[in-house]
Amino acid sequence: MFENKRVLVTGSSRGIGFAIVKAFLEAGARVAVNGRTAESTESAIAKLGGGDQLMPIPGDVSSVAGCEAIVATAIESLGGMDILVNNAGIDIGASLEEGDEAVWDAIMNINLKGTYFCSRAAVKALRESCGNIVNVGSDSSFMGTADMSIYCASKGGVLMLARAWSRELAPDIRVNCVCPGFVDTDMVRRDYIDQADDPEELLSQVEDYAALKRLGRPEEIAAAVLYLASEQAGFVTGSALSIDGGLTAGY
Ligand code: NAP
Repeated sequence: MFENKRVLVTGSSRGIGFAIVKAFLEAGARVAVNGRTAESTESAIAKLGGGDQLMPIPGDVSSVAGCEAIVATAIESLGGMDILVNNAGIDIGASLEEGDEAVWDAIMNINLKGTYFCSRAAVKALRESCGNIVNVGSDSSFMGTADMSIYCASKGGVLMLARAWSRELAPDIRVNCVCPGFVDTDMVRRDYIDQADDPEELLSQVEDYAALKRLGRPEEIAAAVLYLASEQAGFVTGSALSIDGGLTAGY
């Protein structure tokens, strides 16, 4: 379905981004893989078996210069761009009293500024290909969570960028946002659940938040991204697609 489509997935050396790359690769695309370091990026490509369909594009999306370098190198390596997936993101918990400028800048620069400036750098190539953008938001694009206000603000912004761009860039470029709930990646398992005094207890609490009573799998988010990026979604722009096991549906 994506035979020879040219795709850049930011933050794709692990987790959800890695699953998105794998799904695009299996669907015939050529994919630029990005992690913060050459090591993380090369290691992801090795796990996928290498090959000339995959380009390593290490770099940091937290600065304008970083975004511009990543996107320019991806466009050069791929010979253009059809699909940009703004997936790179981090999550640092901090109460209002604890959140300082360093935490604010770390989260906002990667999640929100990175999404904006990677898209800005890609827009000319995406116009040429009549391509599309998929932002990776979160349940936190809709819901407030205690001690997570900076992350929530960043992910609310990621969804709102997609909505604003869907109006601004139509009809040339479709722009959508996929909004995962809790997904079994390093961000949730290693950096959150495993840090708890009682990880088993926290895991069952987190599973319980979803109507479907489990964590999501990275491949389930990837499937939604591929749908939004595909021709099947030709009339879909400005949408927020929740893949969260019913987490944000209510309680
Ligand atoms: P993850 O497992 O922590 O992986 C993060 C990925 O982003 C890695 O590939 C990492 O590269 C890369 N990255 C981090 N900082 C970067 C930077 N400054 N520049 C470029 N790449 C960077 O995260 P995940 O769980 O897959 O999350 C992916 C996206 O989904 C994020 O936007 C996150 O907010 C969103 N999300 C996740 C969940 C969840 O439950 N997991 C829920 C809702 C939304 P390195 O390997 O080099 O560190």
